[in-house]
Amino acid sequence: MDFDVIIGFETHVELKTDSKLFCDCPVDYDALPNTLICPVCTGQPGALPVLNKKAVEYTVRAGLALKCTVNRLSRFARKNYFYPDLPKGYQISQYDKPFCEEGRLEITSGDGQPYAVGIKRVHLEEDAGKLVHSSDSFEASEFSLVDYNRSCVPLLEIVTDHEKNPLRSTLEARAYLEKLRQTLRYIEVSDCNMEKGQLRCDVNISLRPKGSKAYGNRSEIKNMASFKAIGEALEYEIARQRGIIEGGGEIFQETRLFDEAKHLTLPMRSKEDAPDYRYFPDPDLLEIELPDDFVDNIRRSMPELPDQSVDRLVGQYNLPKEDALLLTRDKRVAGYFSACALFVQDRQRLSRWIIKDLFRLLKKSSLSIAQCPVPPEGFSELVNAVTRDEITEKMGRQVLEEMFERGVSAGSVIAEKDLKPIRDLKTLERLVDEVIAENLQVTAKIREGSTKPMDYLIGQVMKKTRGKANPKELAKLIQEKLLG
Ligand SMILES: [Zn+2]
Repeated sequence: MDFDVIIGFETHVELKTDSKLFCDCPVDYDALPNTLICPVCTGQPGALPVLNKKAVEYTVRAGLALKCTVNRLSRFARKNYFYPDLPKGYQISQYDKPFCEEGRLEITSGDGQPYAVGIKRVHLEEDAGKLVHSSDSFEASEFSLVDYNRSCVPLLEIVTDHEKNPLRSTLEARAYLEKLRQTLRYIEVSDCNMEKGQLRCDVNISLRPKGSKAYGNRSEIKNMASFKAIGEALEYEIARQRGIIEGGGEIFQETRLFDEAKHLTLPMRSKEDAPDYRYFPDPDLLEIELPDDFVDNIRRSMPELPDQSVDRLVGQYNLPKEDALLLTRDKRVAGYFSACALFVQDRQRLSRWIIKDLFRLLKKSSLSIAQCPVPPEGFSELVNAVTRDEITEKMGRQVLEEMFERGVSAGSVIAEKDLKPIRDLKTLERLVDEVIAENLQVTAKIREGSTKPMDYLIGQVMKKTRGKANPKELAKLIQEKLLG
């Protein structure tokens, strides 16, 4: 049987505001447990929430980046449930009036075509605290501790649209999540560090026979925080559901957990529906009316988005699109390129040097571009030296390595290692004569019309110059000497 796969994402992203969503406790992921708490974020009776304006600004910024409609009126609602990391017994979230709705995010789909994934809503809520178990395995834990530092950290929830342009494969799911993370980093609302739990996903999956309009029952896999886990969980779940349907069975609507060690999903509980949470408007917080100029100001000061950055690199610097895509994957790399482009005329060469050589060195030493020991001015100097033929490409690579390891300038490495190319014709001629005299058999072949041994002779002269001659010039010289 042939199936359509329908995948939905609820992505939770911790915003990088200085303080929490409803109190002025700082947000700091490295602080000691329970050192950043107060009566509001620990849910003491009578404590009242005060909304963080910056968090609302970031939410609107995210909504605009995802081409959403920003609602003029929105409000917070209480989502009631019990869990030890939720001291109030409810989470302040948004229900019927989120800040942003009906958007889209353009990705490249499996067939290489652009595809605008539907975004249902973008809302703001508070994060819960964190349980720390005494053992990695929950079953083996003797006790669990709770850390409320994370309680009330602003959390963005981005929900894809089930009906309008849903995700249709594991490949599209990955492309979506990558583009979403890239976009949120570009607009600087979150670092989206998945290892720190700053970006976590609930993913739901359903299958239906091809051509059918009705949706199958969905299973939801909770709380995944790595691309690898999400990819594996999706593959497993698609195969599991396919097997059940083909065997004549029925898919239950349920919440499942992905076991990363065993690479499979396990049932957790039957999935709650909205009525289970008894949502109601939070009486401690007023309805929020966003003034037009508040939204307009955010719109006007929007940072560049990934697609705009690609277009700019292609348009302004005439780069191939593939290069522009690689350079803009990380906004800081695009910034590094732009900073170098101020000093470098040959932008295509610059781009190749960043993509091939700088990326290789960064990867080798596990550094991010922000930690790159070669500043843009220094890198530009090197690229210019190669462009002006002051050093060969090959030497340029050695020079870059030295610059990278020792934090020195291109000029000083070139001077120190005596790498300036040999330009003096007399010296070159003398070396060519030496090589010809040492290789009479080879030169005879060239005189007889064979061109193959040329490379060998050039190589011999290059050896004598320790790579400091221009091979094209040498070829010309040798030819003149031998063939006149
Ligand atoms: Zn607090």
